[in-house]
Amino acid sequence: MQTRFTAAQLADPRIQDANEILRKCVHCGFCTATCPTYVLLGDELDSPRGRIYLIKDLLENDRPATAKVTRHVDRCLSCLSCMTTCPSGVNYMHLVDQARARIEATYKRPLAERLLRRLLARVLPSPFLFRLSLSGARLARAFRGLLPGRLAGLVAMAPASIPAASPNTGPRVFPAQGTRRKRVALLAGCAQQVLRPAINEATVRLLTRHGCEVVVAPGAGCCGALVHHLGRERESLAAARANVVAWETVADDGGLDAVVINASGCGTQVKDYGFMLRTDPGWAARAARISGLAKDLSEVMLDLGLDGAHLDAPPVIAYHSACSMQHGQKLGEEPKRLLRDAGFTVLEPAEGHLCCGSAGSYNLLQPEIATRLQARKAANLEATGAQAVAVGNIGCLVQIAAGTDLPVVHTAELLDWATGGPKPAELDS
Ligand code: SF4
Ligand code: SF4
Repeated sequence: MQTRFTAAQLADPRIQDANEILRKCVHCGFCTATCPTYVLLGDELDSPRGRIYLIKDLLENDRPATAKVTRHVDRCLSCLSCMTTCPSGVNYMHLVDQARARIEATYKRPLAERLLRRLLARVLPSPFLFRLSLSGARLARAFRGLLPGRLAGLVAMAPASIPAASPNTGPRVFPAQGTRRKRVALLAGCAQQVLRPAINEATVRLLTRHGCEVVVAPGAGCCGALVHHLGRERESLAAARANVVAWETVADDGGLDAVVINASGCGTQVKDYGFMLRTDPGWAARAARISGLAKDLSEVMLDLGLDGAHLDAPPVIAYHSACSMQHGQKLGEEPKRLLRDAGFTVLEPAEGHLCCGSAGSYNLLQPEIATRLQARKAANLEATGAQAVAVGNIGCLVQIAAGTDLPVVHTAELLDWATGGPKPAELDS
């Protein structure tokens, strides 16, 4: 694709990046076939290629974002399916990230939208505020009919019950069982530890049982993906810097083999810290070091080798590959291989490349599209005939569980169960 940035514009390293990305696109349109919003809406402007043209125009003309650009970029799930399909290696992720930041900086959304986005950016990354909000939302359910549209929808999405916080929450060191094979830091996350604390508990048991010392580092918090996808660049960079400091402290004080992440959306983000902070001389090398250490749980477990799997008649599993797992981190086979090593029969649903509609806070901001994708995903998973669904990302887990009667569990919970941990509670109901 031809671009026409001026020399002055190209002096900005971000525009240089955008220019390189745009020039790789040959307009072939292969990406449209696998884009969930194009598949649903059939509008070229809701396809990757259409959005690329809109973003090119936004950046080249250096104008404030319009309502039209904002609408079509907002509808993008950042699922990155287009990046897997693209034969030219167009890095759509870095382009749309830049567009979201530009929109946030130059477009004035309607007041209600601004307040909602500000609320999500403040509440979702904080386990304390998120837990408090979920409790409030449960109480507000009774008055849902009196609430304005979007707020009523948010209240309706709050889970019927909120699990008790794990007694293992907070910074600490979990010693390895037997001989120590690795020392790893675990990203404890934000929303996940509130919505399903059992995932981190299972992860710690699984890793320590396989010889890992697990450190939950003081000062490490939300990975920053939630605010990053809202275009709130300053906050996402602050989250990245805080985590870099927390984990390099662990690394410099006893060594570190990996930063283990059990939510693939967060993993995609942490693996990108090096890029996000590339132009900051004080942080570029430090962030790149942490990105180099970041590993999905499945990568670490494959490296360790699953030991002592022993289930009699385990349930047949339909595996949902989160977009951030298969497109963001290119980990398509690893989690399935582990589940099979653990003795599970693993089935794969039709349209496995399509997003479930969760996409961070997308299901809260674009509920109509998200609900259609959720129903489509649930139907495809149920059609496999499996007895349960496995997934490696909390957002997908909650989104799919709300759309099906099948139990939905995290891969870590199944691997932990298979190697000596407790049976996931969802499989008992
Ligand atoms: S990231 Fe997903 S929704 Fe966005 S353009 Fe690419 S395929 Fe479509
Ligand atoms: S598949 Fe790649 S090169 Fe083709 S239109 Fe889409 S982004 Fe551009």
